Amino acid sequence: MSLSAKNILISKLKANGITDESVLDAFLKCERHKFLPSVMAHLAYEDTALHIGFGQTISQPTTVAIMTQSARIRKGDRVLEVGTGSGFQAAILAEMGAKVFTIEREYDLHIQSRDRLEKLGYSVHTKWGDGSIGWNEFAPYDAILVTAGSPTIPTSLKNQLAEGGRLIIPVGDRESQKMLIITKINSSNFETEEIPEFKFVPLLGKDGWKRR
Ligand code: SAM
Repeated sequence: MSLSAKNILISKLKANGITDESVLDAFLKCERHKFLPSVMAHLAYEDTALHIGFGQTISQPTTVAIMTQSARIRKGDRVLEVGTGSGFQAAILAEMGAKVFTIEREYDLHIQSRDRLEKLGYSVHTKWGDGSIGWNEFAPYDAILVTAGSPTIPTSLKNQLAEGGRLIIPVGDRESQKMLIITKINSSNFETEEIPEFKFVPLLGKDGWKRR
């Protein structure tokens, strides 16, 4: 894949407000075309969400970059991602030196992304299951990124954040969501910022939407 297509994408990310060099660097290193079905690979460096099969999508690069920048990832952070999808967001986090834990609800997608991440050399902990209740075994996390739209903020995800940890989650109805950036001050105090306006596939599960 040509370097110039990637460089054009990086310029778009900058134009869309991405200033964190470690995020931009991770986008330079990650091969997005390797996270897509081969028939879609030529579209990999367009700033657009794409279908990855199983009724799911790989998020738009700008959205991935906004979420990652908002999470203020530092090397060595423990990061939980809910919604592995293609594995691309997990790879971006791993490139930034995070210790990544990622959960996917669709079994076939979980197997596909687990195998892909391993083949590409990413050391990421993957799990098949309902991420709306988090992954308590490895909590607390310095950051949690939810890459599917939720009707509410799942309590277990707030509980599984470390003090000072950031939860990045799109919350709203099925048509549109606001990106909430929630910082845990302590177990009873949280600060919230929000960025409008996003459209994600639904977070399905116990603490998400109950049906597709
Ligand atoms: N982060 C992904 C990437 O980089 O390709 C894109 C994720 S896609 C927009 C949202 C994903 O969330 C879908 O793969 C969907 O199956 C998954 N999902 C929905 N509800 C879930 C849940 N409760 N637990 C885990 N994954 C869930």
